[in-house]
Amino acid sequence: MTRNWKTRTKLVHQGVRRSQYGEMAEAIFLTQGFDYPSAEAAEARFVKAGEDEFIYARYGNPTTRMFEERIAALEGAEDAFATASGMAAVNGALVSGLRAGDHVVSARALFGSCLYILEEVLTRFGVKVTFVDGADLDQWKKAVVPGTRMVFFESMSNPTLELVDIEGVTRIAHAAGAVVVVDNVFATPVFSRAVEQGADVVVYSTTKHVDGHGRALGGVICGTQEFIRKTVEPYMKHTGAAMSPLTAWMHLHGLATLDLRCRAMAESALKIARALESHPKIAKVIYPGLESHPQHALAMAQMGSGGTLVTFEVKGGKEAAFRFMDALEIACISNNLGDAKSIATHPATTTHQRLPQEQKDALGITPGLIRFSVGLEDAADLIADLTGALDAA
Ligand SMILES: *Cc1c(COP(=O)(O)O)cnc(C)c1O
Repeated sequence: MTRNWKTRTKLVHQGVRRSQYGEMAEAIFLTQGFDYPSAEAAEARFVKAGEDEFIYARYGNPTTRMFEERIAALEGAEDAFATASGMAAVNGALVSGLRAGDHVVSARALFGSCLYILEEVLTRFGVKVTFVDGADLDQWKKAVVPGTRMVFFESMSNPTLELVDIEGVTRIAHAAGAVVVVDNVFATPVFSRAVEQGADVVVYSTTKHVDGHGRALGGVICGTQEFIRKTVEPYMKHTGAAMSPLTAWMHLHGLATLDLRCRAMAESALKIARALESHPKIAKVIYPGLESHPQHALAMAQMGSGGTLVTFEVKGGKEAAFRFMDALEIACISNNLGDAKSIATHPATTTHQRLPQEQKDALGITPGLIRFSVGLEDAADLIADLTGALDAA
């Protein structure tokens, strides 16, 4: 499926299916079903659907298929299944591959809904889950035992941008026969080399950088053809969290500019991190692209970039953090990321509000902490906005 094209070419052309009209923009096949040429053809397709034969949009759709092929090619994965949201992708990858009695090892620092699936859903159905500090390979070594079925982690954690060594964890997991599932949202599909680094399954919330304009909710599971077709597809097609063709169409256009956007955002992120590091109102800047980040070398080896988010702590706790946010003129106050518009988030009172204090402390979610998703605005304007708001704080 993957041609020998470089990334930017794949992002524009991979997976295109043109109708008899030769349309330039990919068509939106906003149809739930398909008209078969004969009763015999319908029967044959239900026995075995060929490569470009569709039955029902819950199973697959030509526009969705174009998106799946394009993002699989970007990721270097054999195949992909598009889902209604990032959480549908995480849930689909985990639940489809597990059964009662299985053992899973997961990093502790997770997006709240991912934590819910591991802590509440999987355990309710008899899956045993062990949590480890994702950055500590010794803890993975101790927790993964022969027979462990799956390991799960976010390759860069939210909001404190701590990295998990994909190659290191994969070596430990594969020695025990476990499948490696990586939630790679913060790394972005552009900076990801997770498949090359050994991950078996890579999931994305495409709501973030892939859509890139804060419009549509979506997700995708990338993996081997065997895992996607034999494990994921049966579960997804019968449980129903399919991606809408309209979303797939928006995402196709998101992918066309994804490489350019992520690189521009990361370039601005480094400038912003450097500018904030010396500001007197800042207690600390966390950005993996800075030499001061404790995992700078791993970030460069794993992603070749520090990514598109900068996290920092404003001196003066919650009050100062709120004064800072309220003084921003360009950046929005919201909780998405990877958007063209820069977004400031206060994790302690929003995305991570419900965590008990000791968990916030363990994850480093302090009252002055701000997560900043760098957008596509001019970097100098963003730096002026941030430093101006800090002066006001
Ligand atoms: C946003 C996000 C999700 C969930 O994605 P949705 O599209 O909102 O369902 C999962 N994991 C990570 C790391 C995320 O940032």
